Amino acid sequence: MRSNENNAKKILFVSSELAPFSKVGGLGDVVSSLPAALCKAGAEACVLTPAYGSVEGKGGVLDKVRDLKQCEINKLPVPVVVALSGVPVYCDIYEAEIDGVTTWFIENSDFFTGNIYPSYVSFGSIRPFILLSLAALELYRAVDWIPDVFHCHDWPTATLPIALLWHNYYSWFYKDSKSMFTIHNLAHQGVFRPEGFFEQTGIDRSCFCYNGIEFYDNINLLKGAIVSSKNITTVSPTYAVEIQTPEGGVGLEGVLRVHSAKLRGILNGIDTDYWNPGTDKYIVAPYSIEDLSGKKANRSELIRKCSWEEDSRPLIVCVGRLVEQKGFDLVLSAIPHLADNKARYIFLGTGNLNLEKGLLCAQQLHSDNIKFFKGFNEELAHLIYSGGDIFLMPSLFEPCGLSQMISMHYGTVPVTRAVGGLSDTVFDVELNKDGNGFLFFDYTQDSMLSAISRAIRLFSDEAEWTELMKRGMQTDFSWNRSALSYLDIYNKT
Ligand code: ADP
Repeated sequence: MRSNENNAKKILFVSSELAPFSKVGGLGDVVSSLPAALCKAGAEACVLTPAYGSVEGKGGVLDKVRDLKQCEINKLPVPVVVALSGVPVYCDIYEAEIDGVTTWFIENSDFFTGNIYPSYVSFGSIRPFILLSLAALELYRAVDWIPDVFHCHDWPTATLPIALLWHNYYSWFYKDSKSMFTIHNLAHQGVFRPEGFFEQTGIDRSCFCYNGIEFYDNINLLKGAIVSSKNITTVSPTYAVEIQTPEGGVGLEGVLRVHSAKLRGILNGIDTDYWNPGTDKYIVAPYSIEDLSGKKANRSELIRKCSWEEDSRPLIVCVGRLVEQKGFDLVLSAIPHLADNKARYIFLGTGNLNLEKGLLCAQQLHSDNIKFFKGFNEELAHLIYSGGDIFLMPSLFEPCGLSQMISMHYGTVPVTRAVGGLSDTVFDVELNKDGNGFLFFDYTQDSMLSAISRAIRLFSDEAEWTELMKRGMQTDFSWNRSALSYLDIYNKT
């Protein structure tokens, strides 16, 4: 909530995604839940994000906000104007109070169309994100509020900290404001040819150097944000270590090591009001740790949706972007073993066409054991988290991962690879007496299959399994602790 009346730190979240209106993955979830947690902890956190696909306040994201939150949206009388190549670009700003957080949606139908991310990165294709970043610096004219900290997320908003340090005017105007940058996924860096960037943005070309935003003759926005931001966080302690190694650094490990004094890994949380099996409006029967009976009803509904007959084999489920990162090539290579009748598998996802084809093919060959729902489907995701028995997440790398936390919160036991944030949240039952899932270490079919087999074996022991489910459901995945860690950094900034 914005107040301008107290001494609370004023934080502006600037993000390309905001769940559930414009969500592609976990970034959208984080930006929809962390600001609310910060407000509860005493900060004044607001959000700026694009009104994708909206025209004059209608359609696209803005209509989703009205439908899903039933809240009022007000168009502010003063637009934001950004100079790109000296030409003014006008953007309307719409304000809504969402779950106690003042949220500003920026609309310009030439820039913020129906798509969130371009299919390829070039200076032309990422201009909407440059506009978003610079508009955040002009926003004060429309909202009469100047943040102490601009908290930016991933390469789409990296132009903002770069401008705060290397734009002659903004560096002077915002000399008392600071930038904080969170790396949600180092694999995406926003790399493109430099032609046009400096002329359009007014950012000083002197930063196109080894110690600035230059990377092998290209612009690398993520590198620029790492160098220019006052503080950097990433989304789990283990990932903060991994990205400083050649194996996990995606070429930026050296830069991250140089700037490691300002890097911290803070584990993401989930919005436990939204992801709550007791109140979830997308599932057929609510349940809780005290009374798990509703979970069985959701399981039956999920089985019905797959056009299968009820039986006692475990349902192994998987929700995620179909990309190499999530380990789907490992899954596809193991299909003949997975289809051995010991369990049934349900996948929900969209992304890489070859992976989609592979899963479709697996479904056709083994329709009694394997079901693939292609697409992004929030409602179905909730049913899958609640109706599944085991959640499979064999990621090649995983900055934090929210899906394993959501699944544990819904009593669906994770089988994951021990990497990144999965190592910080999933603890193997055979290695820890308080374990909450199953881990495997090597990125190989055999390791994954052996962890799945261990889970299937334990599933047949109902009493043990119920204890395991309950341990996951009891774990505190809320933002409470991590929000305080963020506050601590803002306050020291
Ligand atoms: P990432 O950010 O790498 O995509 P996370 O595990 O951090 O992975 O977050 C993924 C989020 O996106 C979760 O909320 C998950 O439920 C959701 N999600 C991913 N794919 C789908 C899909 N096909 N349909 C619905 N929700 C999805």
